[in-house]
Amino acid sequence: MLGLMQHHPLLLSSILTHAARHHGRTEVVSALADGGTHRIGYAALEARARRLAQALHRLGVRPGDRVATLAWNSHRHLELYYAVSGMGAVCHTVNPRLSEEDIAFILNDAADAALFADPGFAPLVAALAPRVPALRTVVLLGEGAPPLPPGIALHDYETLLAAESGEQAWPVFDENTASALCYTSGTTGRPKGVLYSHRSAMLHAYAANTADAFAFRATDRVLVGAGMFHATGWAMPYCAPMAGAALVLPGRHLDGASLLRLLNEERVTFASAVPTIWLDVLQVLERSGARLETLRRVASGGSAVPRAMIEGLARHGVAVQQAWGMTETSPMVTINAPLAAHAGLEAEAAMRVRLKQGRALCGADIRITDAEGAELPWDGTAFGDLEARGHWVCQAYLNRGAEGAADADGWFRTGDVASIDPEGYAEMVDRSKDVIKSGGEWISSIQLENIAVSHPDVLEAAVIAAHHPRWQERPLLLVVPKPGRALAPESVAALYEDGRVARWWRPDAVLLVEALPHTATGKLNKRALRQDYQDYLLR
Ligand code: ADP
Repeated sequence: MLGLMQHHPLLLSSILTHAARHHGRTEVVSALADGGTHRIGYAALEARARRLAQALHRLGVRPGDRVATLAWNSHRHLELYYAVSGMGAVCHTVNPRLSEEDIAFILNDAADAALFADPGFAPLVAALAPRVPALRTVVLLGEGAPPLPPGIALHDYETLLAAESGEQAWPVFDENTASALCYTSGTTGRPKGVLYSHRSAMLHAYAANTADAFAFRATDRVLVGAGMFHATGWAMPYCAPMAGAALVLPGRHLDGASLLRLLNEERVTFASAVPTIWLDVLQVLERSGARLETLRRVASGGSAVPRAMIEGLARHGVAVQQAWGMTETSPMVTINAPLAAHAGLEAEAAMRVRLKQGRALCGADIRITDAEGAELPWDGTAFGDLEARGHWVCQAYLNRGAEGAADADGWFRTGDVASIDPEGYAEMVDRSKDVIKSGGEWISSIQLENIAVSHPDVLEAAVIAAHHPRWQERPLLLVVPKPGRALAPESVAALYEDGRVARWWRPDAVLLVEALPHTATGKLNKRALRQDYQDYLLR
């Protein structure tokens, strides 16, 4: 017997129409390149998105076509999110920090028909356009005139919108229709396309908004410090309008000082960003003596959240929630929130729980397996390959056939190594390719890095596997001192002598470096570090 309830396909346009009808005057604030700010309410933004959908149609974009964006976080990027997906086309957000080579590969792999770019990327667009045969249309989100090859038309975003009436309802179609496309950053080979659907993005947004996760309220003001080009901006562009919360979009100003100013000026209550950015904000707070006036909660992930960040932000009254996920998982699978049983824990034990990557959201599941694929126990000690499945976990990559696809039961191999404790909290041990295999036993580079950054004079740390004549691999620690601090390597090495890690985990050497290389998603680029330093212990 079937239920007798209505069936409306889960379409992303329904989020924006809800926000427009019920929270029409709630603001979307964008920091502009010239230092000013732009403000628009959800009602006006939805009307503009409808015009944009009409303009896209006039430009020849049809349902199923891929439309690329090369843009920082702004109201125009948000309009593209909703207009492109809402008309049934695929919003392909491209990470502008990738190499030109990788971007050309991605645009061709996706066969993007149109490209919308911030004017600051005009030189990049001029270089890319001749390399992408499918490209017919370039639209600049501001003033500029990059030279383009014949056959590619150049348009101005606002002129396009001004020519349309906006008198058109959002179309209704199958909720399994592709909504957005995002490529992995290629730290493990060529970038691979992850193709989200309206249904997967909607269910992910509902789950991400539950009370142990983002829990946005209409009174919140949410700063999206994660790039909107990355895993759909960690879902905030969907979750905030769903709840009627205001959005604050920082543009390209992602340095600590600019973010701090925006957080206070725009009375932000919740913000997302990778740990590197928060460590930068903390530096500025420390140097300037400034305060975080309204910020109360931060969601962070993308790499392990260091204790120093949780403690540093706590001093400003800000609670940090660590989440774990990846492009392939929309991205959030686990998030850290306490259980009733944790209420009486003493501070150190409570911190150990908070440093974990968290419990699975309802709608997704996790497990750990050994080399033979057998499931490992949830005892908080055993660790193995972390696998995930659920409504918003990818089944297969775009154009890659069975390569890297989930198995028949939906279990997707994440490439991470983790343990899971009896309460279901996953703890990341390492990425499988970064783990250090010393004499056949595994050492977690993440745990060693977390200890290094607890040193008051250490800004950033990386641990890599260096070749060793006897143990095959041994940990090598590279540290960047905080500006103006005299850092003695021995004082960092001494941190490992307090029993926090086994004796044989201690790094074989501590090297001071001026800076560490990062990937396009702001993570430590360990591949580059290994190239430079893997023979250090043999010298
Ligand atoms: P990439 O293209 O570099 O894989 P992703 O953003 O998809 O970019 O990266 C996902 C990876 O980031 C995960 O597989 C994991 O290794 C790492 N990661 C994400 N969140 C966390 C976290 N909270 N702690 C540790 N590692 C994390």
